[in-house]
Amino acid sequence: MLPRRNTRQITVGDDDHGFVTIGGDAPVSVQSMTAGYTYEIDQCIAEINRLDKAGADIVRVAVPEKKDTEALPEILAQVKVPIVADVHFHFQRALEAIEAGVHKIRLNPGNINDRDQVAKVIDACKERSIPIRIGVNEGSIIERKDKQKRMEELGKFFSDSKHGHLLAIMIAKLEEYLEIFEERDFHDICISAKSIDPQIVIDAYTEISKRFDYPLHLGVTHAGPREVGLIRSVVPLGHLLASGIGDTVRISYANDPVLEVEDAVEMLCILGLRERVGAELIACPACGRIQVDLFKLVQDVRRKLNEEIHLPIKVAVMGCVVNGPGEAEGADVAIFAGDRRGIIYVQGQRVANIPEEQILDRLLEECRIFQQRVLNGQATLGQKTVDIIPPDPIGELGSGIEKVLAGQVDQVPSGESARSVNLPIADASDAS
Ligand code: SF4
Repeated sequence: MLPRRNTRQITVGDDDHGFVTIGGDAPVSVQSMTAGYTYEIDQCIAEINRLDKAGADIVRVAVPEKKDTEALPEILAQVKVPIVADVHFHFQRALEAIEAGVHKIRLNPGNINDRDQVAKVIDACKERSIPIRIGVNEGSIIERKDKQKRMEELGKFFSDSKHGHLLAIMIAKLEEYLEIFEERDFHDICISAKSIDPQIVIDAYTEISKRFDYPLHLGVTHAGPREVGLIRSVVPLGHLLASGIGDTVRISYANDPVLEVEDAVEMLCILGLRERVGAELIACPACGRIQVDLFKLVQDVRRKLNEEIHLPIKVAVMGCVVNGPGEAEGADVAIFAGDRRGIIYVQGQRVANIPEEQILDRLLEECRIFQQRVLNGQATLGQKTVDIIPPDPIGELGSGIEKVLAGQVDQVPSGESARSVNLPIADASDAS
C-alpha cells in the first residue's frame, strides 16, 4: 500500500446520496463534472447517473445562472451521488445551491467581489456542515494588471524552482484565502492548485502539502483531448499519489466525462489505491510472431469482460507461446494464440485448444465458469494452482533456448536484426 499524507478530513454527502470522506486514511475518491447545462434537468440527471455508474464518487455541476440553481432540487432528488456546485463570480449562486441541498461548494474567493460575500457563503456552509473546495488554479489566480511585477517580486521566495514565481503566487493567494476561512473558524476545506503544466502541478501540490494539512483535490486543467490529456494527467497525478499526496482526483478531458472517470478509476486501481471492480485485462503488444488478429481480439475481449464479468479476475491475452506464459504468469484466465489457434489456461491449468474463430466465445465461457467458481467458494482470485507449461508450437523441446541449442531453430546471426530471420525464438525476450 502506498503511503498517504496525514491530513484533516472532510465528509461530503448525506443519507440519500451516500457519504464520501476526503483526506487522511479515506480512500482516494474520483470526481468528475457534467459537460452539459445544469438547467437542462433531464440530460443533467442522465449525465450524473452515467458518471456515477462509471465509478465517480462525487459529481460537480456548474451553476452560472439562477436557472441552474433552480434545477438543483429536482436533480438532487433523482441522483444517488453527492453533488458539488461549481461557483464563479456570483456568491448568490453559492447561497442558492446551499439552500437547494448540494453537498459541497467549489469556490474561488479571488473572483468573488468582496470579503463580505465570501463570508456569507462560508457561514451558510458552516451552518449546514457543507465543505468548500478552494481553488488556486493557475489560470484564475494571476492578477493580470501587475502580473509581471508580482511575478518578479514573489519569484524571490522560490528562486530555486523553475516555476518559482507562479508557485509563490499560488501559495500567497492560498494563504490569503485561507485566512478568510480560518477567521470564521471554518476548516471544512479541500484545496486544489491545478495547472495545464504537469511540472507545475507536481511542484504546486508538493509545496502545498508541506505547508497545509487540508486534503488536496488533484487535477490538471485544460488537459485537452483524451489522447493527450491522459498522459498529461496521469503522469503528475500518479507521481503525487505515489508520493502519498492527494485525496481526491479529477481527470479532465475535452471529451465525454465518463472517460475521465474510467481513466481515473484505472489509475487508482493500478496504484493499488482502489479496489478493482470487474475484470483486469492484460495483453501483449504483439510483434512479428503474432499469428492471430490480436488487436481485434483484445478489443472484443475487453468489451465482453466489461459486460459479463463483475469480479476482479485477471485475464491475459497473449499473441504467442514464446513469451506469453511468463508474462501471463499471474493471470487467472489466460489465452496464448498461435498458428490460428488459441490455448486457454485457468490458473495454470490448460483447459482448451481451439481454432481462432472460437477463441472469444470460449475465453468468455471460461471466465464465466471461473467467476461462478469464485462466487461458490471453489476457487480464489489470484491463486494459481499449477505452473503454466508453455505449449510447444514446433516440437517436443518446446519454445526457447532448448530448441536453439538443439539446432532446431535458426539463431540470430550477429549484426542482423531479429526481424530479418525466420524464427528467432532465442531473442524473443525483448519483444514485449
Ligand atoms: S513475443 Fe510477446 S509480444 Fe510477441 S506475440 Fe508473443 S507474447 Fe506477443
